[in-house]
Amino acid sequence: MHRAIALYSGGLDSLLSILVIKEQKIEVIAFKFQTGFVLPLKEQDLVYSQKFGFSIEEIDIRKKFFSVLKNPKHGYGKNLNPCIDCKILMLKEAKELMSKYNASFIVTGEIVFQRLMSQKREQILHIENEASLKGLIVRPLSGKLLSATKPELDGIIDREMLYDIWGRGRKKQLLLAQKYGIHKIPQPSGGCLLTDPLFCKKVKDIITYDELTIENVELLKIGRHFRLSEKCKAIVGRDEGENEILMNRKGAVLIHPLDFKGPVILILGEHSEKEIDKACEICVYYSKRKHALIVTRKNEEEKIKEYNAISEAEVVKYRI
Ligand code: SF4
Repeated sequence: MHRAIALYSGGLDSLLSILVIKEQKIEVIAFKFQTGFVLPLKEQDLVYSQKFGFSIEEIDIRKKFFSVLKNPKHGYGKNLNPCIDCKILMLKEAKELMSKYNASFIVTGEIVFQRLMSQKREQILHIENEASLKGLIVRPLSGKLLSATKPELDGIIDREMLYDIWGRGRKKQLLLAQKYGIHKIPQPSGGCLLTDPLFCKKVKDIITYDELTIENVELLKIGRHFRLSEKCKAIVGRDEGENEILMNRKGAVLIHPLDFKGPVILILGEHSEKEIDKACEICVYYSKRKHALIVTRKNEEEKIKEYNAISEAEVVKYRI
């Protein structure tokens, strides 16, 4: 039995592409590449892998992806999404897995002309060349619109069983989903945070201040973020869940109101009293008070002081 490596985003298109290939009696091993900005594998992904009989694994490529994100050779998309370089990176990783698992080709859920940046026909071919995978990437949903790949020429895949889907519509994919008995329709793509303009403001900030680390990217996913100085940031919890996550950080400076429930603030980076005072004023502001007693906890030492709320204009100035 022939074997293929699939790039799995968690979206409908990547799932369908796996099923189209599986229909041709080819074993599929799917991988989700974790860039730090996409959702991790979910329970539902495992349900699909069991239901449809393909294996699935998540692979952490965050460090390599961060280098790409800081300086993408092909630039960014509409936001901070370096899609072309991201795909090249994923395909290079998949190429290594292809040798490891003795697979004959790679499968992706790409559809021509679906997105502007990386799914134009010529871009698809450029990406393929850059990853040194010419003729080895099968896109089952658009396969009939693209040149025949090596597995088609070698008779491993029947081109007639591929599709000719193109553009942004989803009608044909939904019909295919119905055919395969997919009742809970996943979103079209895996939901990358780098396509969200508001989130990207925070990413740009940590790239600018050379703070792009795995830990800092995880923290971007919670709270409101404030840049207090070149080397110091504050994160303000928005609800009890976020406050608890911030509270559990060891060795950090934590700020919270003394005698009522309010936001917890985490200070990150080098700071002086000036930044701590500013963060305490922010804490009063988000407590919806004019002034309050605020606790600052640093190295297990607690300090209590009364602060006034920061002004609205200053909130706007410091907010990322
Ligand atoms: S949307 Fe995100 S995950 Fe998808 S190719 Fe672009 S950068 Fe990569």
